[in-house]
Amino acid sequence: GSAMQPAPDPQADKILPFLPSGESWIARHVRDLPRSGIRDFFDLVQSMEGIVSLGIGEPGESTFWNIREQAIFALESGKTGYTSNLGLLRLRQAISGYMERLTGVCYDPEGEILVTVGVSEALDCALRAIINPGDHVLYADPSYVAYSPSVLLAHGVPIGIPTRFEEEFQLRAEAVAQRAKPGVKALLLNSPANPTGAMVDEGELEKIASLSEREDWVVLSDEIYAELTYEKRHRSIASFPGMKERTVVLNGLSKAFAMTGFRLGWACGPAPLIAAMVKIHQYSMLCAPILSQEAGIEALEHGATQIESMRRSYRRKRNYLWRSLTAMGFPCHRPEGAFYLFPSILPFHLSSQEFAFRLLQEARVAVVPGTAFGSSGEGYLRCSFSPRMGDLEEAVARMNRWMRANFRK
Ligand code: PLP
Repeated sequence: GSAMQPAPDPQADKILPFLPSGESWIARHVRDLPRSGIRDFFDLVQSMEGIVSLGIGEPGESTFWNIREQAIFALESGKTGYTSNLGLLRLRQAISGYMERLTGVCYDPEGEILVTVGVSEALDCALRAIINPGDHVLYADPSYVAYSPSVLLAHGVPIGIPTRFEEEFQLRAEAVAQRAKPGVKALLLNSPANPTGAMVDEGELEKIASLSEREDWVVLSDEIYAELTYEKRHRSIASFPGMKERTVVLNGLSKAFAMTGFRLGWACGPAPLIAAMVKIHQYSMLCAPILSQEAGIEALEHGATQIESMRRSYRRKRNYLWRSLTAMGFPCHRPEGAFYLFPSILPFHLSSQEFAFRLLQEARVAVVPGTAFGSSGEGYLRCSFSPRMGDLEEAVARMNRWMRANFRK
């Protein structure tokens, strides 16, 4: 009976540390992984109703119908199996043609292209393929939220290079050169960039290319926003002489083709690097989902005019949101690429967290505090202009009211 049961000892977990308990099971480098700065914030957004969000990093529209139809058609045709580890040959051929049109660089579908589960998996495979424990990886700060954790999970050391509002958040060759030292294995580039929309200037890119050769770095170039440029064309670092041999270009369908949920991306690079990535991919992922691959062929072969119309629509929305934020008193650059504005909140004397939190609670508009993207993001907000125009207009109306009520000069 119950008399036999000893009272539960409140100290039990302290005096029996060898008993299995959540924390002790977790690998140290995973346990020590910093918590994502936006997790709490987005949990809060999720729990609230009637929020207009400029917080998301994906297109506000669904995938074009002809692309969706190809996924449906593939399903109806019973294409439900694995593909080659590398991805469907027809898709790799389509990627090869697309990359040549986009960057001018030719990649052999047999050996220089790997189809992955989004740029996310391509980045993970590339990092794991090249990093020995303790190797350093350089990238711009602020940066896409996954860069630093992905390097840490690959047992590398992430080194953020601060970029500044005064330089439009451009990564400068000189700033990169200052971090050159033994132990640096790779440079991770993202142009156009999340969260700032900055593009690396072509002259700087050329200097960064020479530096990478001199230092014998591998360059990982995340070009997921290459199609979304509004004034000048994207230039890939792989297109400079000698750079194809040391660059893995990462790209995919998520942003340009509004296909985030398809989870399809790819890596293009020199055969030895791609072969090393395939070793990892074949055991961890086997292959990217076949339905997405079938849809991807349609996107790459017939998507050019659709991308053009999407680019026009993004340009309109960028100009609208930029004009609106500037009129409200936010110092803000008009970004050259991607679909984010990164306004300064310096005039308003609040931290990024406080500003974003109050904007959410009081104006019911969600934006991302700049600190989610690295310590250089303090003092800024990321506002996405990818939502539909109607949502942008509603967000602007709400922000206008709130700004007037709180920061009237
Ligand atoms: N790289 C950057 C710079 C991004 O902004 C994102 C998504 O926000 C990704 C990679 C992830 O892309 P994918 O959906 O292809 O995994």
